[in-house]
Amino acid sequence: MNENKKWDDSNDAMLDIIEGIEDSKEPQIPIKCPICNTYNAHIYMHRWKDGRGTIWTWCSKCKSCSHASRVNLPKWWENADFIDISELTAHPVFLEPKAAMADRHLSQLLEICN
Ligand SMILES: [Zn+2]
Repeated sequence: MNENKKWDDSNDAMLDIIEGIEDSKEPQIPIKCPICNTYNAHIYMHRWKDGRGTIWTWCSKCKSCSHASRVNLPKWWENADFIDISELTAHPVFLEPKAAMADRHLSQLLEICN
């Protein structure tokens, strides 16, 4: 990982990886990054009390990231207990150190829903 590189949220292709994992029978996690084509991309979502949600996607390698707010989250999504709301910022600065935990969380949810 390049520690000095800044997060780049200019490419919306990062959000497409969500459809990818939902369509795939055995999704590979970490997910393939559509920008640098390496398996270093992650997803985290948060469901708010009103039922709407925010989605973050980011790549640990090339530091491409994207987020979408006030969207309907997949039914299978459950918030993780290891992420505090204060850590949910536009750029995934607090999510990146917890990327492995986010990957495990996502894998477990996908296993349950399949
Ligand atoms: Zn990448």
